Amino acid sequence: MALLAHRVPEDAPGDLFVDTSCIGCDTCRRLAPGIFGGGASGRSFVARQPQGEEERRRALLALVSCPTASIGSASHQGVAEASRALPEEVAPGVLDCGYAAESSYGASAWLLRRPEGNVLVDSPRAARPLLERLRAMGGVRTMFLTHRDDVADHERFREALGCERVLHEADLARGTADVEWVLEGGEPVALDHDLLAIPVPGHTRGSAALLWKHTYLFTGDHLWADPEGRLEASRSVCWWSWEAQLRSLERLLSFEFSWVLPGHGRPTRRESPEAMRRDLADLVERLGGR
Ligand code: SF4
Repeated sequence: MALLAHRVPEDAPGDLFVDTSCIGCDTCRRLAPGIFGGGASGRSFVARQPQGEEERRRALLALVSCPTASIGSASHQGVAEASRALPEEVAPGVLDCGYAAESSYGASAWLLRRPEGNVLVDSPRAARPLLERLRAMGGVRTMFLTHRDDVADHERFREALGCERVLHEADLARGTADVEWVLEGGEPVALDHDLLAIPVPGHTRGSAALLWKHTYLFTGDHLWADPEGRLEASRSVCWWSWEAQLRSLERLLSFEFSWVLPGHGRPTRRESPEAMRRDLADLVERLGGR
């Protein structure tokens, strides 16, 4: 729980505060831009107190999603309602789970609502209100783990919801050795008629992206957008092979999608798959992959 006595000096005066336990994961700045400030990886602070109901609601979604419980509200007003408001829809059938986990350094997790069975992409924190909401939404059939770093509470989701977990063999570790569906090799694998797993080695050896309906690409830490919506990838957070990551980025040019939804960084969309492909080609060229 955030401690008022430890609020950071940069906080704007008022009810909402960030304390010194912040790890700078960016979750609050992504969920409530403008309310929370801070550098790309530095400690966050309350840049200004929320004005009106919608801003307050977004700020409280950030409060309940903070992986280290570093955000507090002196009044506690609206916090209980916010805890039951996630996941939140960001596109038709695509929901942001919030409830980031510290063990994945606050990575985003996404819920895909589909008649054939819901899919969770990466693992949020297994908080009780989130589990209850997921059950009410029909549960989770498949948990797609983009790579080894963002697996967080996967075992608890498996126990609570019975979901089948998917992870590439190259990213298996002691804690994930018993996942139900192990991807192998470098070729795309159809998980269902509308779901395609695409190996994108680079950030880690077993990184994989998930393409849904030729529209939404869930990229883990392979590809993301900056706060202005520009596509990004970086050698500085590449843990396995930058050359392989460049090849994987180039390979994505042959797929059709207009959304990128990452683990870290910001999601982004383009008006068409062609526009996304143009921007991805520009990124590949800028990074030296072509
Ligand atoms: S969500 Fe929490 S840990 Fe992450 S940047 Fe905001 S205050 Fe810090």
